Amino acid sequence: MNIILLGPPGAGKGTQAAKIVEKYGVVHISTGDIFRKNMAEDTPLGKKAKEYIEKGLLVPDEITVNMVKDRLAQPDCSAGYMLDGFPRTIPQAESLEEMGQKIDCALDLEVDYSMLIDRISGRRMCPDCGASYHIKNSPPKKEGICDKCGAKLYQRDDDNEETVKSRLKEYDEKTLPLIEFYQKKNLLLKVDGNGTIEETTANVYKALDSFK
Ligand code: AMP
Repeated sequence: MNIILLGPPGAGKGTQAAKIVEKYGVVHISTGDIFRKNMAEDTPLGKKAKEYIEKGLLVPDEITVNMVKDRLAQPDCSAGYMLDGFPRTIPQAESLEEMGQKIDCALDLEVDYSMLIDRISGRRMCPDCGASYHIKNSPPKKEGICDKCGAKLYQRDDDNEETVKSRLKEYDEKTLPLIEFYQKKNLLLKVDGNGTIEETTANVYKALDSFK
């Protein structure tokens, strides 16, 4: 199964992606995670991406598409993958088609905008294993420490209020049209993401099970 995960920043894509991997065993490809890894390692790609990410802007399509193309060419992807945070623009979605990738469904996590800022501002990440927490909704057992690997949690630089506003604007202008794009292709699965993590996971599993 090749799945696309859509939804605004703060919808819980990363959290639900982990649950999807757990149940369906697909490979998780998060463009945001790949950019962050490159930024942490200060690679040429990381340096370029940082110019955009720190302003809350999308990284240009050409850079992002080439990165995803390389990742999808790796052999582990042939058993099924989930794209988390890609495509984010119509040209990216078209490039995916041009690569000859067959997508089975685009799952859209629907969350009221009023909840997004709270979810983003409370988010804490593990720099080592990528696990994601929320200070109220899903806190680690020990404050500031990752349950899974014991690393010290951090807050993403682009999770501040100013940058979040630009990210939401980018989403509205460039990513939202993808809903219609995939609806027209009969690939869209809408899932209510307003409830708790567990409730949303149940909705996600139900949607994917009914689809399979
Ligand atoms: P995320 O972790 O998915 O929230 O992504 C963090 C940031 O990485 C985004 O705000 C963008 O600046 C950049 N990014 C991630 N995926 C893409 C993409 N498909 N196209 C362009 N920029 C992206």
